[in-house]
Amino acid sequence: MNGSSKQHHRGVGMTSQRSRDRLVRRLQEQGISNPVVLDAIATTPRHLFIDEAMSSHAYENTSLPIGLGQTISQPYIVARMSEALLDGQPWLDKVLEIGTGSGYQAAVLALLCKRVFTVERIEPLLRQARRRFHSLGLHNIFTRYADGQQGWLSQAPFAGIMVTAACPQVPAELLQQLAVGARLVAPVNRPGGLETSTVQQLLVITRTQDGFEQSQLEDVSFVPLLPGLS
Ligand code: SAH
Repeated sequence: MNGSSKQHHRGVGMTSQRSRDRLVRRLQEQGISNPVVLDAIATTPRHLFIDEAMSSHAYENTSLPIGLGQTISQPYIVARMSEALLDGQPWLDKVLEIGTGSGYQAAVLALLCKRVFTVERIEPLLRQARRRFHSLGLHNIFTRYADGQQGWLSQAPFAGIMVTAACPQVPAELLQQLAVGARLVAPVNRPGGLETSTVQQLLVITRTQDGFEQSQLEDVSFVPLLPGLS
């Protein structure tokens, strides 16, 4: 890496390590406590996952547009979902993410898991995310251009599954691809709520020996999980 691209990765001014550390402190104030997750957020250069024109906002705790009608999630939500997936474990084996988007959540997961499998239905977004993984040397992320509702059967079972798009209900195929003891974290539309609602409940579903257990975290707002390819 030459000097200027090193600086590009590390960030300067609003994209510096100081801005990232400030974001981490804000997440701690909001109740994120898992040190492994906080470290992953401090290490991951979020400014490289958004349009350069918006990079001065990269370490604000907000979601941002990434083109084609999609968004990169708010850092607090990335941290919260990662923490829920880990459930106190320092490290997970194979994890599946549905909705690669910018690739930021996958990059954070790559520091918390042995391997991350991530699926996206919009090809230009996936291509861009792949380039980012490559340039950051994140070689434990595997990508697939597909409808993520089917999961990634040939790699199942997973030690964790994270859905980063709002679903009317959790696709049964995904639940089937969870290992026993593993958890799925997903934003799910409220029962009886409108499918077009912009608010969902963040659900955590754990596969047990004889079924599934469900708990509920806070309300979140994700773009919808859509069928087919684009
Ligand atoms: N995790 C992303 C943010 C996700 S935005 C990040 O860190 O940036 C939601 C993403 O889910 C969008 O990119 C959208 O195209 C994708 N998506 C929606 N429905 C999908 C489906 N059925 N399969 C795969 N990806 C899907």
